[in-house]
Amino acid sequence: MSGVKVRLDDIPDFGLEINLPDSSFGALDCHSTAGFGEDVTVKPEMSGKLLLTRQEDEILVSGTLNASVRLDCSRCLASYETEISTEIDLVLKVVSATTFDQEAELEDNEIAVHGSKIDLGSILCQEMALDIPMKPLCNEDCPGLCPTCGNVRGSDRCKCGSDKEVDPRWQGLKQIKDKISA
Ligand SMILES: [Zn+2]
Ligand SMILES: [Zn+2]
Repeated sequence: MSGVKVRLDDIPDFGLEINLPDSSFGALDCHSTAGFGEDVTVKPEMSGKLLLTRQEDEILVSGTLNASVRLDCSRCLASYETEISTEIDLVLKVVSATTFDQEAELEDNEIAVHGSKIDLGSILCQEMALDIPMKPLCNEDCPGLCPTCGNVRGSDRCKCGSDKEVDPRWQGLKQIKDKISA
């Protein structure tokens, strides 16, 4: 469970600033959130700064969250660590339980909440999950696995020879690059 919970009554008129990690809110743990798959590990030292302001039945949440996540490269399958930074700009609409069940009509950045306590942690985790790449790459130039031997293409363990030709789709780009560096 994500630990960051906020009671609506705890949000003062001038707003509530949350600096994560904050011991009074608990650590933000996204492990059980959809989008954070088995292959995505979030380190506990997630940091960020949020400002919550309340306007009648709406709570505006804005700020930035930073986390270091461990992902599996979609080409070479190696596990690697990377930083993600997520801009938070949400409107939480406090609705009655019935409206909540019937799905209130919401804009893109609006989320319906009900009850006196909001599970801000899961909301934040869901937002961060959107910033996790669908096809993570350990490196933009990751050569991927060799279809013949299954090792990383061009690595010491791949002895499959002269498969070093440039993809024809990149040939034009390579010529430009050669021209620039010449
Ligand atoms: Zn890779
Ligand atoms: Zn090979």
